[in-house]
Amino acid sequence: MVADTGRFFRAGPAARDRIAREACTPEDILFLKEEGHVPHPCSRLERRSRQFAEAERLSWANRLDYLILVPTLRCNLSCSYCQVSRASLTSTGHDWSEATLAAVLDRIDGLETKSIKVEFQGGEPTLRLDLINAVIERCRRFERSEFVVCTNLQRLDEDVLALFSRDDVYVSTSLDGAAATHLRNRTASSTATEQFLGNLRLLIDRFGIGKVSALPTVDPRSPPEPDELIDAYAGLGFNSIFLRPINFQGFARKRHPDSREQNGEWRRYYERFVRRLIERNWVDRSVVFEETYLSVCLRRVFQPGSERHVDLRSPNPVGVDYVVIDHDGTVYPTDEARMLARSGIIDLSIGTVETGWDTPARQTLDRHSTNAMDPACRQCAYQPYCGRDVIDDIARYGTIDLPRTETEFCRKHMHLFDLIFELVYSDDPAVRHSVSRWLRLPGTPTELGVTLP
Ligand code: SF4
Repeated sequence: MVADTGRFFRAGPAARDRIAREACTPEDILFLKEEGHVPHPCSRLERRSRQFAEAERLSWANRLDYLILVPTLRCNLSCSYCQVSRASLTSTGHDWSEATLAAVLDRIDGLETKSIKVEFQGGEPTLRLDLINAVIERCRRFERSEFVVCTNLQRLDEDVLALFSRDDVYVSTSLDGAAATHLRNRTASSTATEQFLGNLRLLIDRFGIGKVSALPTVDPRSPPEPDELIDAYAGLGFNSIFLRPINFQGFARKRHPDSREQNGEWRRYYERFVRRLIERNWVDRSVVFEETYLSVCLRRVFQPGSERHVDLRSPNPVGVDYVVIDHDGTVYPTDEARMLARSGIIDLSIGTVETGWDTPARQTLDRHSTNAMDPACRQCAYQPYCGRDVIDDIARYGTIDLPRTETEFCRKHMHLFDLIFELVYSDDPAVRHSVSRWLRLPGTPTELGVTLP
């Protein structure tokens, strides 16, 4: 059973029934009080503590400090599941104009935060290094700044390397697994695949593994064997793998229409993958592999507030702490919303970089961006850990007016949290080892002398 604070305990059917009927025995009440599941009515401190724990579960966002910028939509690859429907390399009208660049820089000047994170998306953003450098230059006034360049790493000339050599610049790329898989999914040319892998290795060798993050996109109809994918990542020194099925967006929507929903087969594959990570972590305890999103969800359970993962939070405010500024200056609440517009499905833009985005469109989306009032979520044990993503619902079903439990978002998270609690209560030392490491704990619950309720 789970309280609004996110504190949980395991109860048999009889105890669950007594609690639901408010017919607890004195022993039940003692347990609930001692474990902190209900505050003592006369203790102000306990009541405050509970309110604080509930508030900790809610996300907060007030100031814009995270920009996703698309200086160009052009790209030098044509991946079959491109989520953004990129434009061809030689096309025109798909890069920021002078006026858009000036408006972006003005927005940066107006930010009231001490720190900023900027993610350059595309297309292939390194095609417009001049625009990237102009933004970075303008961010010099911030106390802390971080720039992530999402690139296909096909081109790594001296200018690009000079950009990547900055301490505040990080690289994010796509690696679909072994070279053959990457070739099939993305480059369609062995030369381009070799070029990509060579550039990836060069970056890691020169700047260290901390400079680069890589994400696979997996075709659920023919996923690679877990060991093949893990080995591809391990061979380069990565130990975090974000196991993402093809996203139902952009070109993928047309070419992979079955990516709208994931079925039991994908979920079984996902579990097999996670269990393989656990086995490998146990056999060689000098390395800890993790599935990135599972670790995010796990930390949502045990370490509220430790994550700023904008895809899993409630409320999930739209156009407040982060926005996407497209190649033509249009502002979207998320990258998925940009893809929907680009695919001609629905225009979920909330404004423009010149005129701003505190608009009725933004407010409408924002009104529904919480799971707090949803009847299904209110009944769900996982509500304190889960989130809300109205854009995902619109992308898949064209509406948000659906019983939550009939959405892919819900099915995915129900499965993830079921899996997490199965792992958390496992007595298998291998499982406990991995779960503890994914939580960044120095030891397992047994080693730390902790007993789970
Ligand atoms: S798992 Fe589903 S029902 Fe439960 S909180 Fe998440 S979206 Fe709501």
